Amino acid sequence: MNAGAGETPAEQSWLIAANVVRWRRYGEGGQELRPGTKSYRGGSKVYVIETYAGTGHEQLTTIGRGRHTGSYIRIDMATRNLHTFRAVPVYSPTVLRLCAEAGVGGCWQQRGDAEELAARLGVLAAGYRTGHWDAPHPTPCRCHECL
Ligand SMILES: [Zn+2]
Repeated sequence: MNAGAGETPAEQSWLIAANVVRWRRYGEGGQELRPGTKSYRGGSKVYVIETYAGTGHEQLTTIGRGRHTGSYIRIDMATRNLHTFRAVPVYSPTVLRLCAEAGVGGCWQQRGDAEELAARLGVLAAGYRTGHWDAPHPTPCRCHECL
């Protein structure tokens, strides 16, 4: 009942979520297609807990359910293999624990901060998908841009 000054709202953590591309270009000139990534199934949801500004956020660290075991893993991957970056509130104790253990500060108290970076990563990922290969898309192509 007392919501006066000095009351701290219940703690809320925001993370950046994204989805793994269904298909990615692979091999020489990106002429082959592979479903998802080595570690994640295509379409699965992951949390981005760290990005590498020094390399233009081309790589990032994620937490998600692994392709083979279905249990949470923490792994570095290419930004271009993720899409639909967005800020999400996180309640899962497992995700929050893994995030804390990583010690990289990937959780935000402020939704706006997570949203800002999510928007930037979305633009960057699309750019990396386009710019990564110096050959045209295979035909037919099922990569994220072509689907
Ligand atoms: Zn394509």
